[in-house]
Amino acid sequence: MTKPLLMLDHDGVVVDSFEIFTTAFVEACRRAGLLQIATTDDVLALFGGNFYEGLRDAGAEDAQIREAMRRTADVLRLAMPALRAFPLMPEVLTELGEARHVVIVTSNAGDVVELFLRRHGIAGVAEVAGAEAGRSKVAKVEALIARFPGQANYWFVGDTAGDMREARLAGATPLGVAWGWHGREQLEEAGAERIADTPADLLAIVAPELAADFLGTG
Ligand SMILES: [Mg+2]
Repeated sequence: MTKPLLMLDHDGVVVDSFEIFTTAFVEACRRAGLLQIATTDDVLALFGGNFYEGLRDAGAEDAQIREAMRRTADVLRLAMPALRAFPLMPEVLTELGEARHVVIVTSNAGDVVELFLRRHGIAGVAEVAGAEAGRSKVAKVEALIARFPGQANYWFVGDTAGDMREARLAGATPLGVAWGWHGREQLEEAGAERIADTPADLLAIVAPELAADFLGTG
C-alpha cells in the first residue's frame, strides 16, 4: 500500500544551516559579482517568494546564479560535519517515514541534502527533490501531488514566507515551523495554515495518529 505524501523543506526545517548558508552564500555572491547580496537581511529577503526569482529580481544573471549556487554547495559539502539537525527532527522524521512518503523539496542541491541525511544517520526520507529537479517549488510540489491523488490534504512544511506562498500556489497546505529563518508573523502573513512551535508539535499536526505514541501519552 502506498503511504500518503508529506513534503518538507530542508534548510531551516531539518538542518540548522542559517549561519553557514548565509555566510557561504554572501561570499559566493561577491565572487559571482552579485554585490547587491551583501548582508543576512539581503539573503532573507530572497526567501519572501521563490528563491531563484528573488535573485533574478535582484538583478542576477543566470550564469551568476549558477556560479553562486555552485560555490555555496561546495562550502556546504565541506562544512557538512559542522551542520546539525534541529533537536528532535531526526526522531520525528524516522517516525514520519514509517507512515508517510516523506519528500524533501528544496532549493538547495539534492546531493548536499542526501549527504547531510546520510552523514547524520537520519532515516525516514524517501526522496529529495533538489535544485537539479527544478527551481520552482510550485512545479515540484504539483508534480508530487499528481503522483499521490486523492489525499484529503497535502502538507508542505516550510520555514520561509516563500515556502508558504509556493505551497499554496501548488495546492498544498502550508505549515510553518517556528524554529526557521522567517518569523511566525511573516509565515502567517504569507498564508501558513498552522505554525508548529516544536518538532513534536509538527508531528502532532501532520500525523496525529503517531503523536500519542511518540510523546509517550498513548
Ligand atoms: Mg528553508
